[in-house]
Amino acid sequence: MTVRRLAPHATTIFAEVSQLATRHDAINLGQGFPDSDGPASMIEAAAQAMRDGHNQYPPGTGVTDLRHAIADLELAHTGLSRDPDTEVLVTVGATEAIAGAVLGLVEHDDEVVVIEPYYDSYAATVAMAGATRRAARMVPTDGRYRLDAESLRAAFSPRTRAVLVNTPHNPTGAVLPREDLEQIAALCTEFDAIAISDEVYEHLTFDGVEHVSIATLPGMAGRTLRISSAGKMLNCTGWKVGWVTGPADLVAATRTAKQYMSFTGATPLQMGVAHALRNEQEWIGSLRHSLQARRDQLAEILTGVGFDVVVGQGTYFLTADPSPLGVTDAASWCLELPGRIGVAAVPFAPFTDRYSEEWSHLVRFAFCKRPEVLDEAGRRLQALKS
Ligand SMILES: *Cc1c(COP(=O)(O)O)cnc(C)c1O
Repeated sequence: MTVRRLAPHATTIFAEVSQLATRHDAINLGQGFPDSDGPASMIEAAAQAMRDGHNQYPPGTGVTDLRHAIADLELAHTGLSRDPDTEVLVTVGATEAIAGAVLGLVEHDDEVVVIEPYYDSYAATVAMAGATRRAARMVPTDGRYRLDAESLRAAFSPRTRAVLVNTPHNPTGAVLPREDLEQIAALCTEFDAIAISDEVYEHLTFDGVEHVSIATLPGMAGRTLRISSAGKMLNCTGWKVGWVTGPADLVAATRTAKQYMSFTGATPLQMGVAHALRNEQEWIGSLRHSLQARRDQLAEILTGVGFDVVVGQGTYFLTADPSPLGVTDAASWCLELPGRIGVAAVPFAPFTDRYSEEWSHLVRFAFCKRPEVLDEAGRRLQALKS
């Protein structure tokens, strides 16, 4: 029944793996959500907002105090000055910001460049807009993933309207260095394209590596929509409070689409997030440190079992290659894993255009779980050794 343009996106392997994880009571290192709460003061602020009667629609652009908090943070972290009324839009998670940007700015005969492997909603959203997806790709270089310059150039054309950028990058965990972003920026300028930049892991970088936003590169502030979300930085993925910042004309186009998808999100949750953005920066800093330790913990476990592991310097995820364990098809292996050993992980396949050799052997593991949960996963994974 599903319309043709969405049929290829009808089922996701994430849902399938999560279902199997539940059925087999497996530790779910597939889906990227934390297993502990965000700051207590954020939860209290949201609860207090409900008790205080903040239970009706907020403005279409989002709760005023939250838009101001977002603009203040943007200035502090990127040096970009955004008008909270016209250049900041609160959305129902980063997912709606991405969809709003694409639906509000991309015509049917336009092309959108994505960088493979890419977050799965990008392909579906481009399909909803009726546009054409053109994939560039990442390549493993010296033990980490970098942008492949040649494929990037090949993906751009005079029909390119937008490029979907994601750094820190899901699923590889790569933090794109400035030089890679400069290549994207140069092509955006050459082809007069906009950058839709998904930076939901902007504060979750490790080893002292700093996140760079493409919006801060010369000439890019006027052609970049910068997207972030409270979900990942404040352990509240279920709240679905996200936002987009950028020049007023691009934000207005995004809002045009957004206002007919959800109109607005939940007032008290936006108030809770506003409180946390202003008062819980230290909490976010300690989350960053604890995630780095948990990345190292999981990398050591997987290496010990015999996986080839590529650790990135950001996000919730690392890349594991189970080929040394005799696995060739990661997708079918991930479907067996929950039943076999009680651990779930997701293959790279849904993040790619072609279920090609290049990616089909790789698996994404999430380390955003409590250390004792990772330890238990480690005990279960030992079964793969024999
Ligand atoms: C989790 C995630 C999102 C979705 O964020 P929400 O705020 O939950 O909608 C978007 N992009 C990437 C890369 C993600 O990992």
